[in-house]
Amino acid sequence: PLAPEKLDEYDNIKVAVRVRPPNAQELARGDAQALFVNPADHRQIQMVVPAGYARNGASASRNFTFHACLSPASRQQDVLRLCGITQLLDASLDGYNATVLAYGQTGSGKTFTMSGREETLLQEGYLGDSDDGIISRSLAYLFEQLAARSSGPAADGCRYSIRVSFAEIYNEQIYDLIRFDKRQLAVRWDTAKGFHVPELLCKECGSLEETLQVLSLAVRHRRVGSHELNMESSRSHSIFTVHVDATPTRPEDHEFGMTRYGKVSFVDLAGSERLRDSKSTGETMKETTSINRSLFMLGKVIAALADGAQGARVPYRESKLTKLLQDSLGGSSLSLLIACCSPSATHIEETLSTLTYAARAK
Ligand code: ADP
Ligand code: MG
Repeated sequence: PLAPEKLDEYDNIKVAVRVRPPNAQELARGDAQALFVNPADHRQIQMVVPAGYARNGASASRNFTFHACLSPASRQQDVLRLCGITQLLDASLDGYNATVLAYGQTGSGKTFTMSGREETLLQEGYLGDSDDGIISRSLAYLFEQLAARSSGPAADGCRYSIRVSFAEIYNEQIYDLIRFDKRQLAVRWDTAKGFHVPELLCKECGSLEETLQVLSLAVRHRRVGSHELNMESSRSHSIFTVHVDATPTRPEDHEFGMTRYGKVSFVDLAGSERLRDSKSTGETMKETTSINRSLFMLGKVIAALADGAQGARVPYRESKLTKLLQDSLGGSSLSLLIACCSPSATHIEETLSTLTYAARAK
C-alpha cells in the first residue's frame, strides 16, 4: 500500500485547468484569446481581458496558480501525465479511493477531456485513437498494471478483479446507465458502507475490451435516455466508477488477509453556467435548486476539504452527488478537479467563474 509519507508528498486534492482550442464559431468571429498558460511555468495561467470585452467582474487581468495548466496545444495522450492521474490510478490499485472531476461551462471540453470524442466511443475498438480521453486511457493503464501485478517479477500475490458502474444524476435523481431500466435509484446509508446505492449495477469485467464495451453501451444508454426522458444532457452529472478488488491468493502469507477494495470515479459534471444563470432566468425552481445544489455543494465540500475540514464539518449530505462521492473525496482519497475553459474572450465571465470555483479547491 501507499505509505503515508508518500501521500503527504502531494495535496490530496489537486486542481488542473485545461483550455480547449478555439472552435469554428470562435475562429469565424475572430474572438480575442483570453487565457494564456505561462510557457515558463505550467502552473500559472493568466486571464487577459482585451479592450471591448470588459464587463462587470471581469474587467481586470488576473493571474491564477494551479497544480497544472494545460494549453490549447495539449494533447489527449499527455493529459494523464500532466495531471498526475497515474498516481490516482496506482492508489486505486493499492486500495485507496480516487476521483477525477471535469468542471466547466457547457462546450468547454469536459466530455472531450474525460471520454474523448463520443462518436468514437460509441463505436467498437475505439481505443488507440489519438482523441481517446482520460477514461479509456486510464482503463488501459489499470489493466496493464493488473497484468504486471498478477504474474512475473512484480507479482504481488493478489488476484485482481475489476467491476464498473455508471450512474447519472439528473434533477437530484439517480439512474443506472448500464442496467438502463430508467428507474430512479435510492441512496442508502449504513455504518459499514457509508452512502451507497444498493441497486446500482456493478458489473464485473474480465478484460479491457469487455470494460470498453460496457462503457460504450452506457454512453449509448445516456444518449437514448436523455432523449426519452427529455432531459437536457448538459444538466446531468455522470459518474463512471471502476472498482479494483485485490484478494490475496494465500491469505496466511500475505500482509493483509482480506480483500482490499480500491476505486476510481470519473465524473463529468453538469455545465457550470447553471450556477450563474439560474439567478437571473425564470427556470423552474426544481431544476435550478437541484443543479445548483449538487454543483454548489460539491464546491463547498471541496473548499471545506481544502481548508482542512474533516468529518461532520464537510457537508457531504447536502446533495446526491456529494453523498455518492463521500468516500472518494477527502480522508485518504486522492482527487483531481479539471477546470475546463474556452480560450475565447467572449466567455470571460464564465471562465472567471470557473477559475474562481477551481481556485477555492486548492
Ligand atoms: P462539454 O462536455 O464541456 O460540454 P465538449 O467536451 O462536448 O464540452 O466539447 C465541446 C466541443 O469542443 C466538442 O466538439 C469537442 O470535441 C471540442 N473539444 C473540446 N475540447 C477539445 C480539445 N482539447 N481539442 C479539440 N477539440 C475539443
Ligand atoms: Mg459534455
